[in-house]
Amino acid sequence: MKHVLMAISGPSGVGKGTIVKTLISRREDVVESVSCTTRKPREGEIDGKHYFFLEKEEFLRRIGENDFLEYNEHFGNYYGTPKSFVEKTLESKSIIMEIEVVGALNAKKVFPETVLVMIVPPSIEELKKRLIGRGTEGKEEIERRLARLEFELSHKDQYDYVIVNDDLETAIAEIEKIIDKE
Ligand code: 5GP
Repeated sequence: MKHVLMAISGPSGVGKGTIVKTLISRREDVVESVSCTTRKPREGEIDGKHYFFLEKEEFLRRIGENDFLEYNEHFGNYYGTPKSFVEKTLESKSIIMEIEVVGALNAKKVFPETVLVMIVPPSIEELKKRLIGRGTEGKEEIERRLARLEFELSHKDQYDYVIVNDDLETAIAEIEKIIDKE
């Protein structure tokens, strides 16, 4: 059986985290890749589970060693997908990477089989409300993320699939269908 490498992107607050976590909790044949980042952990985030939290020097060293399938600098921090995990895991399972658009498009360049899925909100207004209501970021951070929103959405034509998240179960079912088809 062939396994799928899927990159899921979408503007901050669109609900991609919930979609991915729910889907993965239901399927033993799909795992999420744990990225490396130089961002500081948020409250409750566990090293090795949510991210591998690295110092910048270590991240740059690993870029030099070609350790990442893709990486990008995002809001002043580096984020990257460990290549060895992907190569090893794809032998037995499908992988979902929850990554932003620049990294996703780069992943597709180096690994053309990567399936790109973008989650979009039913309305921008709704998304802004969700983003502000999440309460994990300060005002400045929220504004930066809102500014990023247009950029993320402007790349949706380069994605293989665009899914509107107006209902969690429907969105999950659509992604499962893509995994099974691909
Ligand atoms: P956060 O700091 O909120 O956890 O993530 C910020 C952004 O970085 C999100 O859009 C997330 O999808 C993206 N991201 C997380 N891991 C990676 C990665 O390994 N590579 C890339 N390119 N983006 C990532």
